[in-house]
Amino acid sequence: MSTPVIHGWCPGALRPMASGDGLVVRIRPPLGRLDAEQAMGVARLARRHGNGRLDLSSRANLQLRGVTEAGHPALIDGLSALGLVDASAAAEARRNIVLTPFWGDGDDAPRIAAALAQALTAPGAPVLPGKFGFAVDCGPVPVLTGTAADIRLERGAAGGLICRPDGAATGAPVTVEGAPDAALALARWFLDTGGAPEGRGRMARHLSSGIALPPGFSDCPTVEGADPPHPGPCAQGVLVALEFGQLQAEALAALAETGALRLTPWRMLLVEGAEAAPARPGLIPDPGDPRLRVTACTGAPGCPQALSPTRPLARALAPHLPEGAHMHVSGCAKGCAHPAPAPLTLVAAGPDRFDLVRNGHASDPPTRPGLSAQTLTAHPDLLTEGP
Ligand code: SF4
Repeated sequence: MSTPVIHGWCPGALRPMASGDGLVVRIRPPLGRLDAEQAMGVARLARRHGNGRLDLSSRANLQLRGVTEAGHPALIDGLSALGLVDASAAAEARRNIVLTPFWGDGDDAPRIAAALAQALTAPGAPVLPGKFGFAVDCGPVPVLTGTAADIRLERGAAGGLICRPDGAATGAPVTVEGAPDAALALARWFLDTGGAPEGRGRMARHLSSGIALPPGFSDCPTVEGADPPHPGPCAQGVLVALEFGQLQAEALAALAETGALRLTPWRMLLVEGAEAAPARPGLIPDPGDPRLRVTACTGAPGCPQALSPTRPLARALAPHLPEGAHMHVSGCAKGCAHPAPAPLTLVAAGPDRFDLVRNGHASDPPTRPGLSAQTLTAHPDLLTEGP
């Protein structure tokens, strides 16, 4: 099995990443929100300059796929006109913030996220590893605890705002006005104490080395986070899931006709003020839909590292999984679509050859190697029975 390539950075709009189906151009809309005009514009640009497919990333960003080198400059012009491009590639890389989508008018969370974005892109801001990120999660109960982030601004057990390093059970008390500075000070502490040797590193890994938290960061316990939400109505509108976190430009445009869109890290879009989602292929409004039981990365041919296609197999096996089950189908051992362990993981080990891993990561030793897609679809009981 070939060793997957670790990039250590995420694509942006100004710094796209080459993939098997062209350039991946990732946009980070301010406050994770596209108004209707912006969403329509992105759909138009995805059709004109890409292959019309868009991914919602696990950090609540939207990426256009299949963009050509020749079309990239015109795409950037179009995105700039929509207010969706930063001043520089460095600025877009630094603005690595996930905001809870469950905010209302006058809430603290969007104010804090906007101030933090400004602070992170100001001259003198710390230069952090490419994947180092922030979560602004200031509702009554944190909802982003399962979303990758290194510094979290959230409510503590006593109800006040805290700044918490990922991997710690406690944080420091902060005010709304002081939260961005506290987050940046913690990021500087991470760098100054050797958290990113050779420019790479994550907060939780740094803390697991046994280093003591900075003064004040042991004061406020955190609270247990909420489980990820399901598709359906919520206080701000309606959540609609996307099959494998991907949607076609036509579906994006149809959603935009219904309302402004908030991006979430859960393969779902929140349509502001809507009561129902439009019916379109790839949109999943029903929380009982079997496709929500499977996670699958891009796979072949979209990812150059993939050893086999993934999504057709995941789609075929989903109805055979019992309710409440979860299966991850990965195109290689990197396991991008679900870095955590899963009850069932099928990892491509070659063209049309999958290894089954139970209760593990995509990189773990298989319990049942060498299954073809045809064998699995003919005998889906192999997934749930046997060793
Ligand atoms: S896990 Fe999937 S998307 Fe990630 S590198 Fe492997 S094949 Fe590509």
